[in-house]
Amino acid sequence: MKAPKLNLKSLKNKAQKEIKKAPDLKGLNDVFNKYLGKRGQLTQVLRSLKDLPEKKRKKRGKLANEIRREIEEIINEKRKKFKVSGFKLQEEWIDITVPGKKPILGHLHPLTKVKRDVEEIFQSMGFSVVEGPEAETEWYNFDALNIPKEHPARDAWDTFYLKGGLLLRTHTTPVDVRFMEKNNPPLRIIIPGNVFRHEATDPSHEFQLCQVDGLMIGKDISVTNFKAVIGEFFRRFFQKEVRSRLRPDFFPFTEPSFDVSISCVVCGGEGCPTCKNSGWVELAGAGMIHPNVLKNSGLNPKNWQGWAFGFGLDRLAMMKYKIDDIRLFRSGDLRFLNQF
Ligand SMILES: [Zn+2]
Repeated sequence: MKAPKLNLKSLKNKAQKEIKKAPDLKGLNDVFNKYLGKRGQLTQVLRSLKDLPEKKRKKRGKLANEIRREIEEIINEKRKKFKVSGFKLQEEWIDITVPGKKPILGHLHPLTKVKRDVEEIFQSMGFSVVEGPEAETEWYNFDALNIPKEHPARDAWDTFYLKGGLLLRTHTTPVDVRFMEKNNPPLRIIIPGNVFRHEATDPSHEFQLCQVDGLMIGKDISVTNFKAVIGEFFRRFFQKEVRSRLRPDFFPFTEPSFDVSISCVVCGGEGCPTCKNSGWVELAGAGMIHPNVLKNSGLNPKNWQGWAFGFGLDRLAMMKYKIDDIRLFRSGDLRFLNQF
């Protein structure tokens, strides 16, 4: 075999450049094979040495071997670098087919859910949602609602009195007055919010409750409107046919007043422990707004009339989810809350 006439120094330079450019392990192996493989250019040079005269052979052999070592060395160096970064890649490699870890998400409190449901239904019937202060004056909570200082109703709605003449409101009805003072009829609003009672707690009593008040004022708003609105509300809230019933009752701020019952959603009106075998569950108080309350709110009772109602969101949620102890809502007990 005739020795290839190769300039060893330019071969070395070429090899060095190609090693530098090699983008990955495979590229590096290609360079290795090109120069140092079985049929590599440098290998062939080394093989052809034996055909040279001794003097030339020694000289060229020495140089060729030096170049071989150099090329081997830089290829090995670069190989190490590729292997290290390849190893890192393996460590950081993510298996996208492994099922993900689900983050623990919270959810809405049952009372918040019920409140939003109620708001949505009334809003779809044209009612606005209005809010007011929880720390209320005696005037708005009692006097303006036709409950003067010596009125026995103040005992039924005993509350927490704060410094500075304020008290924790016992109902959201004061917001009716605040709203009528600032807005001209016709009016259609609901008022959800927290209310407070100074009383001992038991499965059906709490010192803090969620209440929704409703108010509709116009020239000729009557009990008929109320029956239609509240009937539609119950049907949509419980998502089934629910009958409602009005019976005479007493509230200082309405005249006439009535309690609002619905046919028991648990037994359908046949009688069960929830409805105490009566088939009916009392859910709300309502009535035509007392002329004195209209006057106290700056409206002339000769020109305007309307109805108001109030019910406890807690009671509504208890009926909807069949909960038998009102205290569970604010107990912070996750065994209870996680069921929703
Ligand atoms: Zn029942």
